[in-house]
Amino acid sequence: MNTLTPLTPAPVANPAIRPELSDALRTAVAEKAAAAQQHLSAAVREFGSGVVFANSLGAEDVVLTDLIHRAHLPIAAFLLDTGRLPAETYTLLAELEARYHVRLALYFPAAASVEAYVREHGINAFHESVELRKACCQVRKLEPLARALDGKRAWITGLRAAQSSTRSALAAREHDPVHHLVKFNPLAEWSETEVWAYIRAHDVPYNALHEQRYPSIGCTPCTRAITRGEDIRAGRWWWEDATTKECGLHARKN
Ligand code: SF4
Repeated sequence: MNTLTPLTPAPVANPAIRPELSDALRTAVAEKAAAAQQHLSAAVREFGSGVVFANSLGAEDVVLTDLIHRAHLPIAAFLLDTGRLPAETYTLLAELEARYHVRLALYFPAAASVEAYVREHGINAFHESVELRKACCQVRKLEPLARALDGKRAWITGLRAAQSSTRSALAAREHDPVHHLVKFNPLAEWSETEVWAYIRAHDVPYNALHEQRYPSIGCTPCTRAITRGEDIRAGRWWWEDATTKECGLHARKN
């Protein structure tokens, strides 16, 4: 079998992305935004141009984009373009670049590596086993990530502790033992509601797929909409066991 079609009901509006902006929520988000900007400023003070923002264009990443812009912080951003991203993600990329007058550095997989993988395994082989899925992520994400981080001393991500059980111990600042860099996760303690409250309060552009119950968006063939009550990362590599559902970008050594 070389293709896998997600079995999900027709997408419906996701109420989580339109929280009621109460005064209490606005205040909580403003405080967290100030704290996040302190982490971002500290990263620039300590590492200068040696810090880079891994912007995957998720809801958290558009919040960080806006925070960086508002604080006039000189932090360059990059996007890993796997070649299998949804059209909506490219639309958002263009929208963000126009809104914030920035250009993201796009890192593509090595053409020869993709050609070799597809020739040997097939165009959608990642659906066949965890090993083949990880091999695809290695070619399309991890190798380009290593190039994007080469020569850097620190990186910034939009990870949140509440996103999954594998991220529950996340700190706002931590050591990345895989890339041997400092890793800043300024939104580590934010809730999904707070992320969306910030987006609404500041009218930040976001991926249209979020309107169709895609809380977490990656490559098209490896992402589906979630159903009511499902975990927010249930739509990523949905055919796999929950314990394997990381692509390796944020691997931790134990
Ligand atoms: S998420 Fe899917 S398509 Fe994207 S790199 Fe990983 S296995 Fe390949």
